[in-house]
Amino acid sequence: MIKYLLSLLLTSLTLCGNAQTYLNPGVDTSGIEVQTALKFFNHYLAGFNGKELPDLSKFWEADELKLRTIPDQQIYAINDSPLYSQGYKATILYIKPTDKYIHFKTQFSAVNDSVGNIMTLAVTNHYVALNDKNGPYFINPFTINLGSWQSKHLRNVTFFYPTQHKFNARKADSLIQQIVKLEKNWNLKPIDILYYLANTWDELQKLKGFDFALSMGNREKPSGISDDKDNQVFCAGLGENYFHEVVHVYLNRLYPKSPIREGLAVFYGGSMGHSIDWQLKRVNAYLEKHPEADLNNFEDFWYSDLYTNPGSAIRGLICSIVYKKDGIMGLKRLMSYTSMKDIFKLELKVEDGQWNSYLRKHIKGHY
Ligand SMILES: [Zn+2]
Repeated sequence: MIKYLLSLLLTSLTLCGNAQTYLNPGVDTSGIEVQTALKFFNHYLAGFNGKELPDLSKFWEADELKLRTIPDQQIYAINDSPLYSQGYKATILYIKPTDKYIHFKTQFSAVNDSVGNIMTLAVTNHYVALNDKNGPYFINPFTINLGSWQSKHLRNVTFFYPTQHKFNARKADSLIQQIVKLEKNWNLKPIDILYYLANTWDELQKLKGFDFALSMGNREKPSGISDDKDNQVFCAGLGENYFHEVVHVYLNRLYPKSPIREGLAVFYGGSMGHSIDWQLKRVNAYLEKHPEADLNNFEDFWYSDLYTNPGSAIRGLICSIVYKKDGIMGLKRLMSYTSMKDIFKLELKVEDGQWNSYLRKHIKGHY
């Protein structure tokens, strides 16, 4: 009970700037080490302002910043705005001092409706080390969690995978061969890539530090994500050769304004574990059953399917059409357009209102 009262008392003291952190009842903040770490953690969260990040070099060691421009991989838990500055309530659930660091678990939530139900966005883990003459700093959850993972380095790709995963060298070799070909065709230098793979998405989220994030749970499906700023990919259920995400790392940066970058990755590497041919066959089957589906607004065209994103498959198809006509030069030209309207009009010579018949004909004729 004393601990509980002490925590309630300290709740008001933990507010720091915009941080808006609150302590859950029962969290013991006694002791100078915990208080120093708490102050540091609050100071970090308070430094996030809209999309703006604090000076990360004040919180992360130089080695971490050399490996990643954004060492904290929990910042973008829900979208491209930092989780810590979207006005959610940050409740510190747990503070655990150990020999090496002070461990924080924090829940980010909001009241969801008029009857007070809580919506939880994420539960994060942060580790604050104090034993440094330069003051506190964060230890990355990756450093702690990768202790139970294996790694393998091949050419320019370092694969990280859970210990129970049996590394498939044949698949990894096939990825490397595709990378070499891509570099040659596009006249690009190798990029060092961190490739994290696991059977499930949840394992990858836990690796980043989450106990919970909105994208966790539900039925498993193959999924991946790329980060072309820090040259890393995360692939769940897709093994060692998910070329799609690697294509993003190489080519996204060349065409930041292109509306068809996802199509290029699908053209080269399929989507969600299946080739573009497989994807288009599925889209075609749907379209034949649904003559009312209107591809004149294909950017709004989608249907609920665990294994296909029709918009991405159609973008991949457009890449395939242009590649068949003019090869890599054609693809480079295609990627330089900044709107789908221009792509249809100037590249494909298809007028507004004709997209539906054009796309249906080509989706069907892709085989
Ligand atoms: Zn993609």
